[in-house]
Amino acid sequence: MNKKGKVYIMGAGPGDAELLTLKGKRAIEEADCIVYDRLINNRILNYAKKDAEMIYLGKGNCEGGVIQDEINKTIVEKALEGKVVARVKGGDPFVFGRGGEEIQALFENGIEFEEIPGITSSISVPAYAGIPVTHRGLARSFHVFTGHTMADGSWHNFEAIAKLDGTLVFLMGIKNLPIIVNDLITNGKDPKTPIAIIEKGATADQRVTIGTLENIVNLAQERKIVPPAITIIGEVVNLRDTFKWFEDTQLFGKKVLVTRDRRQAGEFSDKIEKMGGVAVELPFIEIESTLDKVDKEMLKSYSALLFNSPNGVREFMNKIEDIRDIAHLKIGAVGSKTKELLEGYKIKADFIPTEYLVERLAEEAVNHTQVGEKILIITSDISPCDTDKFNSIYDRHFDKIVAYKTKKIIREKEEVLNTLKKVEVVTFLSSSTVDAFMASIENDVEAVKNIKFASIGPVTSETMRKYGLTVDFEAKVYDVNGIIEAIK
Ligand code: SAH
Repeated sequence: MNKKGKVYIMGAGPGDAELLTLKGKRAIEEADCIVYDRLINNRILNYAKKDAEMIYLGKGNCEGGVIQDEINKTIVEKALEGKVVARVKGGDPFVFGRGGEEIQALFENGIEFEEIPGITSSISVPAYAGIPVTHRGLARSFHVFTGHTMADGSWHNFEAIAKLDGTLVFLMGIKNLPIIVNDLITNGKDPKTPIAIIEKGATADQRVTIGTLENIVNLAQERKIVPPAITIIGEVVNLRDTFKWFEDTQLFGKKVLVTRDRRQAGEFSDKIEKMGGVAVELPFIEIESTLDKVDKEMLKSYSALLFNSPNGVREFMNKIEDIRDIAHLKIGAVGSKTKELLEGYKIKADFIPTEYLVERLAEEAVNHTQVGEKILIITSDISPCDTDKFNSIYDRHFDKIVAYKTKKIIREKEEVLNTLKKVEVVTFLSSSTVDAFMASIENDVEAVKNIKFASIGPVTSETMRKYGLTVDFEAKVYDVNGIIEAIK
C-alpha cells in the first residue's frame, strides 16, 4: 500500500499576500497539491513547486454544503495518493473556515494533518481600515459573529448581543445587514452607534463605508456594497479618522501589469505590493542563456569588462571558473541593480555612468583604460551595443559577448485583453517587451486606449511611440524603482 500523505489545513490571511505566515509559506513550498479558495491572494501560490497540482475549490458567497463535501473528498483522496496537500484558506481556518470539518474527514481516514493558523479577517481587515478592535477606554472586548442564519433559520440572541459593551464584528453580514441592524436597535443598542463596512479589505480594492446603525442600510444600498465585507460596530470606528493608513500608501489601488520575464518579475511585483498596489504578472519575454563557458585565456587580453544588465552579470558569473580570472580587469556597470548584483559577488564596480546607457558605459571605460587596450562588453542579443561604432569613436578595441537571449513571448490577443481588464497601468522595462506586447495584441492600439503605459526610459519610450502608444509615465532613473516613482 502507498504511504499516506499529509495535509496542512492552513490560513493565508486576507488580501495582502504578505500577511501569510512563515509557516504557511513553508507548507505551500512543500506541498505536492494545493487546494485553495477564493478569498486568498493568488500571488502566494507562486511559492508552490513548479509541478504542484493546483485545485481551485472556491465557495463563492454561500455556505457551500456541496462544495465542502467535494473539498473534504479531494483532500482525503490526494493524501491517500501519498501527497503532501496544502489546503489554503483565506483568513484563519477555524474562524468560519470549516477547518474543523476538514480535520474530521482527515481523522476518519487516518490521515496525518497540521493546522496552521492564519491572520483572520475579523481583526486584520478592520486594522487595514484604521480601526482597532479594542482600544483603551473605548472597547474592552470584541465579539465575532457570522451574519448567516443557521440552515434551520435560527439566529443569534440579539437581546444579549445588544447589551455587550465591546466591539461587534460580523463576517458574511452583508445579505442580512438590515436584520442585524434592526435587531440591535430594537434590543436597545443606540441607533447613533458608529458602524463601518469594509469591502475587499487589505486589497487594492478596499472600500470603507462609515455610518451609524440608523443610516447604514441606506448607505449600503446607495454604495452597492457587496461581499466579501466585514461589518464592525462600536466607538472604535471613529478612530479611523486618525488611524487610517492603508489607503494612504503610495500605490494604493493601482493595478499594474508586470511584463518582464518570470524570473525577474517577483522583485518588481513585491515592490508594487509593498506600496499598496496590485501586481499582475504576464511575461512577454523569457531569458535564455547563450554562454557556454568563459575562456580564461581570452580574458587575459582585456583591460576592462563592462556589464550592461543584471542578467549579463548573472550569466557571466555562472560561467566563469575562478573569480580571480577577472582580477586584472577594470569593471563598469550600467544601473544600480547591476551594481548590486556585482556586489553580491564581492565585486565593486570601478565606474557606473550616471545615465543608464551602454554608450555612456563605453565612454567612461575610456577613462579607465589606455590607448589601444581591449574592452569586453557582456550583453544580450538585442542590446543596442554597437562595438563598431565605439571602435570608430574611441582609440580602444571593443568586443562583446552575447551572454543571453531575450526570447519574445507572443500571446493570444484575447488572453492579453482579458488580463488588461484587471489593470490600469502597463509597465515596460525593455523594448523587446513592447514588441512582444504589440505583436500579441496585433498592433491594435485602439483596444488599449484606456490603459496607461509606463516606460523604464527613453529607449523603451521611443519603441512605444513608434507603435503609437502614449508614454504616460517615464522613469527618471532607469530601473525598477524609477518606474515605480514615475507611476506614483
Ligand atoms: N476564515 C476567514 C473567514 C471566512 S468567512 C477568516 O478568518 O477571515 C468569509 C467572510 O470573511 C467574508 O464573507 C467576509 O465577511 C470576511 N472576509 C474575508 N476576507 C475578507 C476581506 N479581504 N475583506 C473583507 N472581508 C473579508
